[in-house]
Amino acid sequence: MVTAITGGNFGDEGKGKMTDLLAAKADIVVRFQGGANAGHTIINDYGKFTLHMLPSGVFHRHTENIIASSAAFDPDDFFNELKMLKENGIPEPMVRVSSRTQLLLPIHKEQDKLEEQRLGKNSFGSTKSGIAPFYSDKYAKRNFQISELYSSNIKDKIRCFCEDKNKFFNAFYGVPNALYVNDLTDYLMDLRDKLTPYLFDCPYYMSDAIKSDRHILLEGQLGALRDVDNGIYPFVTSSSPLAGFGSVSAAIPPYEIKSIISVIKAYSTCVGAGAFVGELFDEAANELRKRGGDSGEYGAKTGRPRRIAWFDCVSARYGCMVQGATEVALTMLDVLGYLDKIPVCVAYRINGEITEKFPETYLLDDAEPVYEYLDGWKCDISDICSYDDLPEAAKSYIEFIEKRIGVPITMISNGPKRDQIIYRNTDYK
Ligand code: GDP
Repeated sequence: MVTAITGGNFGDEGKGKMTDLLAAKADIVVRFQGGANAGHTIINDYGKFTLHMLPSGVFHRHTENIIASSAAFDPDDFFNELKMLKENGIPEPMVRVSSRTQLLLPIHKEQDKLEEQRLGKNSFGSTKSGIAPFYSDKYAKRNFQISELYSSNIKDKIRCFCEDKNKFFNAFYGVPNALYVNDLTDYLMDLRDKLTPYLFDCPYYMSDAIKSDRHILLEGQLGALRDVDNGIYPFVTSSSPLAGFGSVSAAIPPYEIKSIISVIKAYSTCVGAGAFVGELFDEAANELRKRGGDSGEYGAKTGRPRRIAWFDCVSARYGCMVQGATEVALTMLDVLGYLDKIPVCVAYRINGEITEKFPETYLLDDAEPVYEYLDGWKCDISDICSYDDLPEAAKSYIEFIEKRIGVPITMISNGPKRDQIIYRNTDYK
């Protein structure tokens, strides 16, 4: 059985917590896209951890953790995170890396940094983790798939790669000799030796896993609105955070994904550039930012303050739609317990017209939120374990959102810890 856990908003929805939780019953957790450009914060019996590259199943001894072929594999972060887990006393996790995954190299990070500087005020708010240069090189077919490091032609490819990069860096950024063939060769050969024990043939392995009816979790990074095609292009990531892309990356048939859990949060946040309808800039934003997440709404990768808005039914419904969500996990409900009234954006007004549809990006700058105001519950709900025990106003809030997004909310997260979860679908208990 294959389940996908993916973001229904802009990312930072709490997917890491949900994956860590559901991995307890999974055989395999698969990171299928993106690289070390986002962080999944997980609080469990071992402590608090932020993972950038490793799948969120690494805290379970019985769970295999797979980095699938379409991820932007950052070997430096990969080895650093394994070391960090060891130093924190976590039993060595089972980790495998698809031999078809491509390498995100230090030069990609350098390029990302220089490009953001070059763009100046038009920059995309990149985390400078090298993701866009990596995927550009991948689709231009000049980058390195890990398996190529074993090829007899690798030296020629390294030479061409260095020539191209040096020309590009010189022309675009005035940087001569950005790469030396010998240095890159040494780096890649050293990496090949270190990575060998982790490599596996992903398509065959996953095919066998499906035949053996193993329980597989596909773990998405970022959220639907950052999808390169269906998100707010060009303010998107360079891969697809949609569940369907998990099937491509892990080479499993799309029809095997039986359940798609879209994780959405009870209010909205966003990191990076691009239109963010209903963005709050006042004291209300500061208050929510201070109270959000487990220690405020600040980016897990960069520490940047996250942009804040009230829950947005328009974008969340769209996000769940493009994910193909079969169910929703609503997170951070506990955060809203201080409010008398909670505004919820139910539609956009664009050039005088009211719409419940999420438009193409160019119209978003003209979109204004249309709010409905729901009653707050004015209490701490973080200790509540059953849906029936939630205050009526909290249940009304959940059911209001559920109706608007049109997907059943089966899990409610009411705190950052593993056990702060309320199930409405007993299958997950
Ligand atoms: P991810 O990338 O989707 O995994 O999300 P992040 O890790 O970037 O951000 C989620 C933050 O919210 C983390 O600090 C989590 O510890 C925290 N968190 C997750 N679920 C909840 C919840 O239900 N309530 C609260 N208060 N914090 C949560």
